[in-house]
Amino acid sequence: MLATLPFLQTTNFPAINRNTLNTLQVSLGYMCNQQCLHCHVNAGPNRTEMMTLDICEQILTYLRATPSIKCLDITGGAPELNLHFRYLVKSVRQIGLHVIDRCNLTILSELGQEDLAHFLTEQQVEIVASLPCYLEENVDKQRGKGVFQKSIAGLQQLNAAGYGQKDSGLILNLVFNPQGPDLPASQTILEADYKKFLEENYGIIFNQLYTLCNMPIQRFGSMLISKGQFNNYIQLLRNAHCNDNLDNVMCRNLISVDWQGYVYDCDFNQLLGLPLYLDTSTQRHISELTNVNLEGNPIIVAEHCYACTAGQGSSCGGALS
Ligand code: SF4
Ligand code: SF4
Repeated sequence: MLATLPFLQTTNFPAINRNTLNTLQVSLGYMCNQQCLHCHVNAGPNRTEMMTLDICEQILTYLRATPSIKCLDITGGAPELNLHFRYLVKSVRQIGLHVIDRCNLTILSELGQEDLAHFLTEQQVEIVASLPCYLEENVDKQRGKGVFQKSIAGLQQLNAAGYGQKDSGLILNLVFNPQGPDLPASQTILEADYKKFLEENYGIIFNQLYTLCNMPIQRFGSMLISKGQFNNYIQLLRNAHCNDNLDNVMCRNLISVDWQGYVYDCDFNQLLGLPLYLDTSTQRHISELTNVNLEGNPIIVAEHCYACTAGQGSSCGGALS
């Protein structure tokens, strides 16, 4: 696959290796009730790819056999649309692991999801939710008309269920990404702005804001190419590369599993078709990895990796430095 992707063929990105695996990130499929401009998985209402129950069982088998993993990080599409989402969450909580749901907020007002907030509360699931701006116009421009108001309603529903409330133990984190080909502003400053604006205007509270850098791949990458901004954006990322961020890029401690059970160093590599390297570059399936120690394994890197190390750095847990 590497050879067929021209911008991935050569890179000066430094070689990195895996540390202890502590997180399994799983994509339950690409179906989503939204169709955002920056979506790096091209998700949308017409996508039909969905993780089956059989693959969910294989994930559970792997988790039971891998005690270093403390967290299952569930993503999509809108992961809640997968029929086996609740079964997977409940089973993983029974094993005693922390669960993160990457929730788009508008899913909470979809038909059939009326009890979703209650379910997430009951299972003590951490929610990481995208809200790329606190201004309606910007959110609707990036994520679709009406998304901002539905997101606000979703956040209010989660707050009412206890999320973000002091001492509730129910964590609600928000995610910011820039509207265009720019680096995110300081996470600390933006978080303070978000907290002030959302509380004053909508009575909304949350725990932390994560700032993420847009990945120059899939829908966002195509948009850059169509506007003639792709090369400049890659150059911006390269110029802002910070070596200190290399120690904490998420692929050091996480593997990403696609809806069919194939394994990658991160979900960006998943979308680029760059499989986890284990002796050969043959695609590896989660069912083959039980009892395989990945520590020290080389991570497959390419030009897009600069989006993780530019400026303050970027990971599924926000800024790195
Ligand atoms: S909500 Fe998330 S998964 Fe769905 S289209 Fe938007 S970015 Fe993609
Ligand atoms: S894009 Fe993936 S492989 Fe590259 S540095 Fe980021 S997390 Fe690691």
